[in-house]
Amino acid sequence: MIQLYIPLNFLGVIYREIKQSLADMERLFKLLDQHREVADVPNAQPLAVKGAEVKFAHVDFSYEAKRQILFDVDFTIAAGTTTAVVGHSGSGKSTLSRLLFRFYDINAGSITIDGQDLRNVTQTSLRKSIGIVPQDTVLFNDTIEYNIAYGKPDATREEIVAAAKAAYIHDFIESLPDGYGSMVGERGLKLSGGEKQRVAIARTLLKNPAILIFDEATSALDSRAEQAIQAQLKEIAKDRTTLVIAHRLSTIADASQILVLDHGRIIERGTHGQLLAQNGAYAQMWERQQARQEVPVSSPRADDRD
Ligand code: ATP
Repeated sequence: MIQLYIPLNFLGVIYREIKQSLADMERLFKLLDQHREVADVPNAQPLAVKGAEVKFAHVDFSYEAKRQILFDVDFTIAAGTTTAVVGHSGSGKSTLSRLLFRFYDINAGSITIDGQDLRNVTQTSLRKSIGIVPQDTVLFNDTIEYNIAYGKPDATREEIVAAAKAAYIHDFIESLPDGYGSMVGERGLKLSGGEKQRVAIARTLLKNPAILIFDEATSALDSRAEQAIQAQLKEIAKDRTTLVIAHRLSTIADASQILVLDHGRIIERGTHGQLLAQNGAYAQMWERQQARQEVPVSSPRADDRD
């Protein structure tokens, strides 16, 4: 019996390994799939970033021919400033960030960085200039060091440690039995939502991009962790052109510009103060959120729920 059990057990291990590898490959293909939508034009030039002014000019977009998602979206993020986008779930907020990465091409209008149309620059140079701290960071089944260095594969150990310190995750890493060599991801140590976001922040710091996208997590971390992360993000966003996809209005009150997106259209824009004074959709969201103590505003529209 034992003789049979050992090979079977061994097969089980192999089976799990293969299943995990397939899951990794599937993820990779999903990413590649997204990139297949667009291609570099034959004479594509590398993006030359100066101040990193981002401009969406009269952008129309649809993923599928029959359903338009964005309508005449027009805004500029001045170099080195922060623009936040708020709106109900499905209003098109994350689509803006996908278009800035040029995962898809738009149907009308243009998107430019420092005056260069995204369709005319190489995708490699474009993606090098943009860093994203996503809602849910995917960790690779590798060491924590590898996961941080992913933002800059040739980073030295000193640079990695400096980024981890700046993201306030160094002490946590040092407390692990294998330190920076600890395996994380599905097969290794499972990190909390906040720890994963810190890894993403360290990754972004190492990449040092001119443009930053922060896709705020819908599911709140506990409020202390959330506040600490917000403070760090403010630090990284300083002097970078930043697009925040926001779910909690209190985190964006000091943004240079707030856009309110509704069914793919910008219906209001201004600073927090200006929007409150307008007493429109934003002011209502603010009131509701204050009353409900920070329930994300991007929950389904009230009229969709009825
Ligand atoms: P949330 O706050 O829930 O993250 P969002 O405002 O970021 O929502 P988007 O993810 O930008 O919304 O989605 C806008 C619309 O586009 C939604 O109706 C969604 O169903 C649709 N959509 C998103 N991705 C795709 C896709 N790959 N193919 C087709 N439709 C899509």
